[in-house]
Amino acid sequence: MREVKIRIKDEYIDHIRSGNPLLEKKMFDNTRFLQKEGDVIKIVSMKDRFLARGYYGIQNKGCGWVLSRHVKQKIDMDFFKKTINAAISRRNHLLMDEGTTAYRVFNGEGDGIGGLTIDYYDGYYLVQWYSKGIYKFRDEVINTLKKRKPIKGIFQKKRFGNDGKYIEGSDFILGEYPEWPLVVMQDDIKYAVNLDDGAMTGVFLDQRQVRRQLKSKYSKGKTVLNTFSYTGAFGVAAALGGATMTTNVDLAKRSIELTKEMYAVNELQEFENQIIVDDVFKYFKKAARQEKTWDVVVLDPPSFSRSKNFTFSAEKDYGKLLEDVLPLVNEKGIIIASTNSAKMDADKFRKQISAGFVAAKRRYKVLETLQLPEDFAVDARYPSSNYLKVMILKVD
Ligand code: SAH
Repeated sequence: MREVKIRIKDEYIDHIRSGNPLLEKKMFDNTRFLQKEGDVIKIVSMKDRFLARGYYGIQNKGCGWVLSRHVKQKIDMDFFKKTINAAISRRNHLLMDEGTTAYRVFNGEGDGIGGLTIDYYDGYYLVQWYSKGIYKFRDEVINTLKKRKPIKGIFQKKRFGNDGKYIEGSDFILGEYPEWPLVVMQDDIKYAVNLDDGAMTGVFLDQRQVRRQLKSKYSKGKTVLNTFSYTGAFGVAAALGGATMTTNVDLAKRSIELTKEMYAVNELQEFENQIIVDDVFKYFKKAARQEKTWDVVVLDPPSFSRSKNFTFSAEKDYGKLLEDVLPLVNEKGIIIASTNSAKMDADKFRKQISAGFVAAKRRYKVLETLQLPEDFAVDARYPSSNYLKVMILKVD
């Protein structure tokens, strides 16, 4: 890899020294040499003192990541091999866990290389590239994974189109091409996934603990409404936990087929489950008119969504979402409120929740708060990567 030496302004030396891994253009004294994504950047002070090595790669945030603060550490095949293998070894207990066959093995800067994530799906690795820059290290990453055991194959998602969008195309790299759906497990819950069908795989691995809590503590004998349900993963967790019935609501038509499949792989074909294709906000109004209520409600909206009738931004509208759903929640009912919005920190999220309850004139108690599971390692010096915030609430 080509290495360019770039000086950093004095006021950003502490940023680099403190261990924050994010690189931004404004930090550099001169960006004339920042030309080719994938170049290794040797970061030095204005007085030419070595500070760190990183790489140049443009994401929606920043223009690259620090990879090492040791002057002798080269950014080469050996660096990638060492860093990735160490991260995989740290998850060995998950590989040994018989009830879990899918989890994250490499989580970007949390494991030492920003812009790169790797998930494990029962022998298949799914590599996600978040910039053209990190994609330049494709051979280093793939050659490392290829030598792992057990391995059945490797897939990828290129997430460096305009605005960080997923780039369509075949995502198969090598190995034995599986039949879809591939069935994986987390905490004894089965998930039907497809690693070669667009941006999403069928399950969000980061919600593992939330589904586990829903299944083990909040479902027995309860009716459960799962909103923004996608493939119905939360609904399945509730059904396996002893719920009496589940309702899954999602705007996308594909959710019917995907949800049926998700229930079927868990042998829940006969379970009393309703799949509704509708805008959640419209459905709330309809359900309120029909005086429908549930014991447990899961709210896991995207950070931003635009449908024919409504625009939803988690940052601005989460409180309203709660206000609207509260008429549908039974007394002493449970709300699992989740957001992955990076723009809303835990404090703002709590304020939105509280505002929603005030507007609906209802009261609540916080039973639990959950964050990313340990396999989604977070760099403590870069807290905004700790994006998942979940609160389990009891409605009075
Ligand atoms: N909670 C899901 C993941 C949700 S992904 C899980 O854990 O598996 C976001 C989903 O929200 C998508 O499936 C999308 O189709 C749906 N969605 C977005 N806006 C919506 C709206 N206004 N009403 C209903 N569903 C919506």
